[in-house]
Amino acid sequence: MNIKELESKLTALFQPRSFKDYAPNGLQVEGKGEIKKIVTGVTASMALIEEAVKREADAIIVHHGYFWKGESQEIVGMKYRRLSRLIKQDINLFGYHLPMDAHLLVGNNANLARGLGLQSLRPLEMEKSLEESIGVVGTLEQPLAPEAFQQLVKETVGRDVLFESVSEQMISEVALCTGGAQGYINKALAAKADVFITGEVSEQTIHIAREEGIHFCAAGHHATECFGPRALAEYITEHWGVDCEFVDVPNPA
Ligand SMILES: [Zn+2]
Repeated sequence: MNIKELESKLTALFQPRSFKDYAPNGLQVEGKGEIKKIVTGVTASMALIEEAVKREADAIIVHHGYFWKGESQEIVGMKYRRLSRLIKQDINLFGYHLPMDAHLLVGNNANLARGLGLQSLRPLEMEKSLEESIGVVGTLEQPLAPEAFQQLVKETVGRDVLFESVSEQMISEVALCTGGAQGYINKALAAKADVFITGEVSEQTIHIAREEGIHFCAAGHHATECFGPRALAEYITEHWGVDCEFVDVPNPA
């Protein structure tokens, strides 16, 4: 596949213009024109680039790319080493931040929700459509006790999770937003969810959970954001006829 074709397919898939974001969504670093192998991952770290080089990938698609609002503009140090490695290897880099959180087919939130078996998904950002909301709310088929729910999340993300059980209350309505969305606990409260799952925790999140009476789970920023890149790799291989592989570079955060 030609790089222009890949770019237009990704634009059609992710609709980046529908999102106000903190980084450019789309082709961030241009490389070779002919695409035979693609790697997806969570973050365009040096380790991911090296894995892509090993696999002779022509393009990398990540959730956390480069050129974030507020970062320093100089191309020095770590930033130079990453960009220089990509450019010398002629590898294209695509980044999709919020569009990859929100996408209902290949996004982080919808696929975590699917993994947990949630039904009748609705937007966590209630003023937005489900397609544009960052975060979703869904219903468990069977209400679960907090301990059983914690176990379900552990199995779904494949790692230990921080779980703050605030009462004996059974869990049926689940709000979730992958990554560093602990500030969205207030949106989970407004949505009348029984539990809020995100990737990270702040000290104050626990107090809010206890005092407002909502169970809280921090299941890992990285772990919750593998769901989109993994689903995307399967989608591209199946529908676009290009070999695409999700590469996990584990991260305890
Ligand atoms: Zn993230």
